[in-house]
Amino acid sequence: MGRKTKTLAKTERQTKLKKVSSAEPSHQIIQFGKIWPYAPAPESTKIVNIQPRYELFINGKFVPPRSGQYFDVINPANEQKLCEVAEAGEADVDAAVRAARQAYEKIWRKMPGKERAKYIFRIARILQERSREFAVLETINNGKPIRETRDFDVPMSAAHFFYYAGWADKLNYLIPGREVAPLGVAGQVIPWNFPLLMAAWKIAPALAAGNTVVLKPAETTPLTALLLAEVIQQAELPPGVVNIVTGAGATGALLVSHPDVDKVAFTGSTAVGKKILRAIAGTGKKATMELGGKAANIVFEDAPLDQAVEGIVNGIYFNQGHVCCAGSRLLVQESVAEIVLRKLMRRMETLIVGDPLDKNTDIGAINSRMQLKKIQELTQVGLQEGAQIYQKRCELPSKGFWYPPTFFTNVAQSSRIVREEIFGPVLTIQTFRTPEEAIEKANNIAYGLSAGVWTEKGSKILKMASQLQAGVVWANTYNKFDPSSPFGGYKESGFGREGGRQGLLDYVKIL
Ligand code: NAD
Repeated sequence: MGRKTKTLAKTERQTKLKKVSSAEPSHQIIQFGKIWPYAPAPESTKIVNIQPRYELFINGKFVPPRSGQYFDVINPANEQKLCEVAEAGEADVDAAVRAARQAYEKIWRKMPGKERAKYIFRIARILQERSREFAVLETINNGKPIRETRDFDVPMSAAHFFYYAGWADKLNYLIPGREVAPLGVAGQVIPWNFPLLMAAWKIAPALAAGNTVVLKPAETTPLTALLLAEVIQQAELPPGVVNIVTGAGATGALLVSHPDVDKVAFTGSTAVGKKILRAIAGTGKKATMELGGKAANIVFEDAPLDQAVEGIVNGIYFNQGHVCCAGSRLLVQESVAEIVLRKLMRRMETLIVGDPLDKNTDIGAINSRMQLKKIQELTQVGLQEGAQIYQKRCELPSKGFWYPPTFFTNVAQSSRIVREEIFGPVLTIQTFRTPEEAIEKANNIAYGLSAGVWTEKGSKILKMASQLQAGVVWANTYNKFDPSSPFGGYKESGFGREGGRQGLLDYVKIL
């Protein structure tokens, strides 16, 4: 912990907490002051074959970039270079869009839905067959624990392809009594926090609806998208239906503003989302924006508190807080604030931070040096604003990018750390007395992506859900996803929906 860091143990509230835990020594891990270590259980990396260099995937083939440029991709858990990846310039993006246009006009838009479905099913099945390879590669490139990539990212990606494959021949039932048609070429730009899953969220509905695609993955995490390109070849998808161009923001900007792109689908930060909207204003392109979030996770005094604490931990600490819908603001009813905090601190002590490839690991590496710097800067802002910090005691690996699970108390609604997206394992904690106060605090923010409500009263859940300005409200759970349920935001969290029937509506025009 840094010199300026003040642990809660120094505050009056924490002194009370300490007394309670020594009078109530139910939790051995805290009482003995150490965690019983698990034997390491590293996942083998043999299944993954990382090539020294990756090209662009255009018109069904891997081709060198006309730009002649490549950039390095590293493993954020140890800073080792993994490979170099092509950086698409203007001519490359143009070639990808032209391939997508040709495939759209000549093949994909004319193909009956039941035929398109066969290809999408095939992609889903190959993803399942190669799931271990995808999970290991995602963990190496992103830094997130293997348990998450294995149990969530990859199966959920396959589930999206399965789900939308089922829709491809049923588009005439999308809007009762109306026929729909595809939009054309979709230019899709995605972030680094769920590289494969975001690609699946984008590609699966676009293809099901009869569009063709040019996808740009994030510059730090392009490897599973490029492996997906191999799967697309394996599935014998007609050339040009899906194209993948790698590069940084400049490549993304070229793609979204290309005159022959009909639909822009973006997931990323609100700042970049605004830039893109300015760039395409007046062009007639359709757009969906999945942007940042700062979700309130609201715990009432009648909630099942142990489950709520699991939900808090799941909401902010798993996946290193790199989740747009992370429950990064805990609002806890004053009467149970002490006990929830105490339980949370105990639970934090049991979290295992370290090697993302170890199957025991709960919290892996931060995805990049830049993201780590952002988390550190905002944490400093919190301290300067007078908030009190608590961080999990743990040794962090000396190489790579790491940040311990952290929370702040003594924050105000106006604090920057309460209002700005930190996108790391950092929670702010505020209290409330009445449901009205909780709603006021939850909504008094620029974002509106998600929220959580913990209470045993169904009526309270319904009341809160109807008043919270959030695209998703989870009740007595957190971070649960299903391909059939739509996801998306209000306010500065964006517009449009991904997932479910609604996710398809953003890829069609009504005739
Ligand atoms: P980012 O906005 O920096 O980058 C996202 C993508 O946009 C990257 O591929 C990047 O190369 C590209 N890009 C950058 N500048 C561009 C430009 N001018 N034109 C076109 N493309 C450009 O975001 P990030 O740091 O990669 O991701 C984190 C952000 O994503 C967080 O704010 C998070 O909340 C958000 N996110 C939202 C959702 C959602 O569903 N709402 C899901 C995941 C992540």
